[in-house]
Amino acid sequence: MKLLWELTSELNRLFVFELADRHRVEVVFYRGDTLCLSTQVGCAIGCPFCLSGSKGLVRNLTVDEILGQYLLLKDRLNIRRVAFAGIGEPLMNWDSVKTAFWHFVRSGLGVSFYTTGYPTSKLRELLHLPHRGVSISLHSLKKDLREKLLPHCGSLAELIKVLEEELSKLSTRKRKKVSLAYLLLKRVNDRLEDLTMVAELAKRLRIGITLLRYNNTGEGFYGVDDDEYERAFLFLKSYGLRVTLSTRFRRDRLGGCGTLMINREESLQSV
Ligand code: SF4
Repeated sequence: MKLLWELTSELNRLFVFELADRHRVEVVFYRGDTLCLSTQVGCAIGCPFCLSGSKGLVRNLTVDEILGQYLLLKDRLNIRRVAFAGIGEPLMNWDSVKTAFWHFVRSGLGVSFYTTGYPTSKLRELLHLPHRGVSISLHSLKKDLREKLLPHCGSLAELIKVLEEELSKLSTRKRKKVSLAYLLLKRVNDRLEDLTMVAELAKRLRIGITLLRYNNTGEGFYGVDDDEYERAFLFLKSYGLRVTLSTRFRRDRLGGCGTLMINREESLQSV
């Protein structure tokens, strides 16, 4: 495994690694302290708004390949946190991700996860680990729409059942580290009735919402504008919920972690 190239924007740094079989994965260093790692080559979930998953899953990364992304960069960057939020669904490569997780924890790093929650048997385990945050991609509570936005990640009813069961076992402090991630897509899931559904679920589960802005990929989906984003935020806040917004790091052209590979290739050509 070797570092192939690096790209720097005002806010973030992107690193592309080539694996022994010549497949590539990418890593983003953002916020000046966090390394966003990939867990798979490609992704089986197949979200239509995501370029990283557009060709399906190629293969899981090994433990060494996951750790390698950190080890090859740790001496040049001030890494304090690791986020399993790059390419791939961490729960679908759970044995390797879990081994890497414990290595990072033992090294004193805070570790957070972005996941679809599938498979739910692994989500049950994840929620009880000493993580620094778990965001579960919801994107819609309408069954048909969620299946369209996250095509291969099991049943919504099962996900909610598992969240109800497992969250009730967590302390308030631990529960505060879990949120529902909601990617706001223009004219897809941004109506008040959509937001009402997610607000009511978060309230019932007593967890927060991570309201994400979309970095356009040219795949037929569009992000909302600033006013619409603020309105959605205030609407969710009106339920008394903890709502976290996309940071400027995620909105950067090298942000959005795993979802923007083609944009990055275009960026590269312009370097
Ligand atoms: S958004 Fe995440 S889960 Fe969906 S296809 Fe892309 S990498 Fe996979």
